[in-house]
Amino acid sequence: MKYLSTRGGIQPIPFSQAVMMGLATDGGLTLPVSIPTVTTATLKHWADLEFIPLALEIISLFVAEDDIPRHDLDRLIHKAFASFTHPEITPLVTVGNHHVLELFHGPTLAFKDVALQLLGNLFEYLLQRDGGTLNILGATSGDTGSAAIHGVRGKKGMEIFILHPHRRVSPIQERQMTTVLDANVHNIAIEGTFDDGQAIVKKLFNDLAFKKKYHLGAVNSINWARIVAQVVYYFYAWGRLAHGDATRPVEFSVPTGNFGDIFAGYIAKRMGLPMGKLLLATNRNDILTRFFSTGSYRIGQAHPTISPSMDIQVSSNFERYLYYLLHEDPVAVGQKMAELDATGAFQVPRSVIDAAGEFRATAVGEEETVTTIRSVHQRYGYLLDPHTAVGFAAAKETPGMVCLATAHPAKFGDAVKQAIGREPQRPPLLDGLEQRPYRCQVMAASVQAVRDFIAGQLG
Ligand SMILES: *Cc1c(COP(=O)(O)O)cnc(C)c1O
Repeated sequence: MKYLSTRGGIQPIPFSQAVMMGLATDGGLTLPVSIPTVTTATLKHWADLEFIPLALEIISLFVAEDDIPRHDLDRLIHKAFASFTHPEITPLVTVGNHHVLELFHGPTLAFKDVALQLLGNLFEYLLQRDGGTLNILGATSGDTGSAAIHGVRGKKGMEIFILHPHRRVSPIQERQMTTVLDANVHNIAIEGTFDDGQAIVKKLFNDLAFKKKYHLGAVNSINWARIVAQVVYYFYAWGRLAHGDATRPVEFSVPTGNFGDIFAGYIAKRMGLPMGKLLLATNRNDILTRFFSTGSYRIGQAHPTISPSMDIQVSSNFERYLYYLLHEDPVAVGQKMAELDATGAFQVPRSVIDAAGEFRATAVGEEETVTTIRSVHQRYGYLLDPHTAVGFAAAKETPGMVCLATAHPAKFGDAVKQAIGREPQRPPLLDGLEQRPYRCQVMAASVQAVRDFIAGQLG
């Protein structure tokens, strides 16, 4: 399988190169030259597979044998998911009229572990095989940073530098990052906001001489390997419900921010997984909901919510879907993205969106998120985290849906307390977190301070 760019500016490259490239060199996002499809007979076989063998079947469709041999891929997949604490990796549980797909049994209790555990192992394998080093730099408001740190900790050939806003992430999130003491992990708390951190990272990436000298790379949600890892659990959930009928459709509700998780569902559908329209659920940061109802993609004001991992203004993966919506025309994609840069908006005719008919979209307010956590807990004794509650609320009129649970409720104790009057019980993974030794460098929100620190650490 070869990969192209949504902007049309790269020659087809193998999977391994797409993984190491991250953002395509022409500014676009990478996609497979064609999406593999599966037969009903294959689906029937897959329906009975456990998560890890299923992951190998699915991921190997996206990776050529002469790029990464299947037995190596198998080993990397085993290693990646060994860090999950549930024997099923992503178990499906029934809650009232719905099914909840628990994606939070990885080391940081959020769904991003599914992708980042695999990505960390892929990076290490490719660096060892092809030589070279990679120094990951990123800014986080919480979830992505800790999942990335846990994906990369102790891996050979790699260092990771993660900026978070000092005392502005939740105490649990802070300690999930700073108690990782592996020598290749560097936590930086900047005296400023998340936006300050992101601006610093952007400036350092734009300093091409610095970026090249220190082999800087990113782990944000645009890496194709992350999407491919997430495709797996759509098939897995479906298999638990198919009951031997390979044509039985399942519907999914997905709480969405950067359009990564739900785009993986779209890929699963294109591969032949029987499903209805994907239900896209946003909080009041609703750029995606507005797009699917009006055809206008317009950057708005960011509002802080109790589901902070979905507080985005621009969805970094959306360009991938735009590519398919615009009939795989890279010139048209480039024009829309240029328009977005210049004016903060672009339009796609409603008729085009309706003809594709892939998604329905709902925005869920704060109040409804809290009442959903409360009523689901009262009725069924099951605790949703606020992100999962957004998807669950969006699904309320459609019984039988699979709602993706993207974080463990203990990660967002304040929001849960608001709903049920007490903090959720902590899973063993968080036991004694506050008492563990930690390491973190606090510094001014200045490009120079961060630059000097990275240079000092890398020598
Ligand atoms: C990142 C995140 C999301 C949103 O996922 P996207 O792929 O950005 O749409 C939802 N919930 C939680 C808990 C997250 O960390």
